[in-house]
Amino acid sequence: MAGKSAFNPFEMAQAQFDKVANLLDLDAGTRELLRFPLREYAFSIPVRMDDGKVKVFRGFRVQHNDARGPTKGGIRFHPQETIDTVRALAMWMTWKCAVVDIPLGGGKGGVICDPHNLSPREQEAICRGWVRQLAKDVGPLVDVPAPDVMTNAQHMLWMLDEFEAIHGAKYPGFITGKPVGMGGSLGRTEATGYGLVFTLREALKELGLRPEQTCASVQGFGNVAQYAIELYHQLGGKTLCVSCWDQADQTSYSFRKSSGIDLRELRSITDRFGGIDKGKARERGYEVLPGEAWLTQEVDILMPCALENQVTGDNAGGIHKRVRIVAEGANGPTTPEADRVLQQRGIFVIPDFLANAGGVTCSYFEQVQSNMNYFWEKDEVLGKLDVKMTSAFLAVSDLARRKKLFQRDAAYVIAVNRVAQACKDRGWV
Ligand code: NAD
Repeated sequence: MAGKSAFNPFEMAQAQFDKVANLLDLDAGTRELLRFPLREYAFSIPVRMDDGKVKVFRGFRVQHNDARGPTKGGIRFHPQETIDTVRALAMWMTWKCAVVDIPLGGGKGGVICDPHNLSPREQEAICRGWVRQLAKDVGPLVDVPAPDVMTNAQHMLWMLDEFEAIHGAKYPGFITGKPVGMGGSLGRTEATGYGLVFTLREALKELGLRPEQTCASVQGFGNVAQYAIELYHQLGGKTLCVSCWDQADQTSYSFRKSSGIDLRELRSITDRFGGIDKGKARERGYEVLPGEAWLTQEVDILMPCALENQVTGDNAGGIHKRVRIVAEGANGPTTPEADRVLQQRGIFVIPDFLANAGGVTCSYFEQVQSNMNYFWEKDEVLGKLDVKMTSAFLAVSDLARRKKLFQRDAAYVIAVNRVAQACKDRGWV
């Protein structure tokens, strides 16, 4: 287990919580309960490697709070994984599930390992070992894992198989992120990007803007960005600029077309990691600009859909005065310094843990369908997603207006209040 580093994500998550606890004037007992996870597991996973030697991997699971329902959250495989990262991510999952009002708590897990250096058999052994250590402490009614950094549907199926072998029955609702046909949900691929645009559509209504009169600039061109652009274009919007990471040059570039990008054309010259081919883009009439150019475009909407810490105190001043909305598809794209700039300028921010909650909401739908062993059509999944995202957005914007709060603070107030109330209703505090 790694110790404290200079930047400690758990301390940051606690500081964010403390700010909201003050706004809500939470009592001391509730604060103490919610500042820390309810339960943590740290364990060893011995694996016989392909060379015949045994190597021991460290695994974690953190269940931050389950007052509103079984905990839910991904499992990360990462060489620099730390218990504090997992704690912070588990706490953020609690708030994310609460803000979209799904009956789940927050959890997260991890294993310190690098899948790049592990054979498929060794990865399978880690997955099965992780489940063996936790078989009694996770499950469809307790704690439901999902894929995250460097884990995928195959890892989830190995884990599911081990869980079912131990318990001697089929429990497809034990884990999400399964492939369609093996208990996965239709619509999951689109869910995060579409969810982002469901909230964007409502923000535009609130500002009296029609989508067809607006244009946008997007950071990233991966899963979230591509599906967000797809739905935004269906609503009539135009995207002038996107950006991506260039693996060969080890830098990022922006791609602009003033008449608007053609999504299908750009997808056809993009690799599976969301990297756009520069040469082919130029041939198709795109200007290839420096990576940060996406942020300074004359547009109505910015959608950061790539990484954390992208809109900062240093570059937020370069945001064009036309920008009215920042819709955060990525996790943590805006630093606190940049947040202050956006707030001062009256830019409408749809905060990350609301804006990108379409992913976890659809995972919840997968869990529900798996528990019933009955699967919905794609339109039904996306229709239910729209209802959830829209009502979550409206609750946040209504509170922000009534109490004159920044949208991010309003979202936190709603989420923390719901969890605190559930703890109180259960008689815990
Ligand atoms: P992805 O890997 O599919 O795509 C990432 C994109 O960002 C790629 O186009 C990549 O080239 C680009 N990129 C990387 N570094 C960049 C940089 N420095 N500058 C510009 N572009 C850069 O990832 P994704 O699934 O689309 O996720 C994007 C963000 O959304 C992440 O923050 C992720 O945590 C968050 N998120 C994703 C989901 C989901 O369901 N996929 C759910 C919630 C949150």
